[in-house]
Amino acid sequence: MPNLLAWQAATDWKTSPISLPANIEGFEMIAGPAPDPSWTGSPMVAYLGPSGERRIWYDGVMCQQMGSYASMFVLLHEIAHHTLLHTAQPIVPTLLLSAAQQSMGREAQADNVACREAVRFFPLEAPEVLDAIYKYWAAAQGSGGSSHPSDAQRAVNVYQQWQSYLSTARCDILVHNDPLTPRDAIVKLLGVLQVNPVLVDPLIHQAELTGSLRLNYDGNGYFYGQVVAFIREVIMDARKHGYPLMIDFAMR
Ligand SMILES: [Zn+2]
Repeated sequence: MPNLLAWQAATDWKTSPISLPANIEGFEMIAGPAPDPSWTGSPMVAYLGPSGERRIWYDGVMCQQMGSYASMFVLLHEIAHHTLLHTAQPIVPTLLLSAAQQSMGREAQADNVACREAVRFFPLEAPEVLDAIYKYWAAAQGSGGSSHPSDAQRAVNVYQQWQSYLSTARCDILVHNDPLTPRDAIVKLLGVLQVNPVLVDPLIHQAELTGSLRLNYDGNGYFYGQVVAFIREVIMDARKHGYPLMIDFAMR
């Protein structure tokens, strides 16, 4: 079992609006002194245990300082090193690519996967997660040494990734018609989405009949950036009026 309790104690997940990704199961979070002294100064490092356990060591103090959103990005980055098999396949320099070039490539790849997974696992919180890591790198201005792209490059890359998700990624909105999502919230959402008023009653009827509603009017879903804005508006409104809400969305 992953050491989730230690992880939660070392960071401020409990007071954070985000929770750990579901697939953190299968990875072992390792706290305490760095198993390799050369890791000191890194917030997290992915590595394999003696029997191939997928481990992620983290510096709890650094994570605390970075905050839970930026730490979440780093966690997704380390998970990506495992899923991309970087931890299983040591870098072998070739005539075409030096070890440093290969390492830079791996780091950029892990950052890109982390951006994608942030949007997939935390579609509503991803703006904060990516903004936090962007600001962290923009402020840190580290050179990256011979293994990592510079912090400035990583900040630019995460910004570009984010822009591409806003404008190209599509998703469907899922509304659950349960006691947590009163009719008012569905009506409000359909209003924000500028749904033809003639369609509102049939859609609500469908939600009440089947327990949920999948919204993708143009057949292609909505742009991710739009959906984040729509749903946040409805959630804010629901909070103002004192009712909770269950609206979800599924990336395509
Ligand atoms: Zn890395």
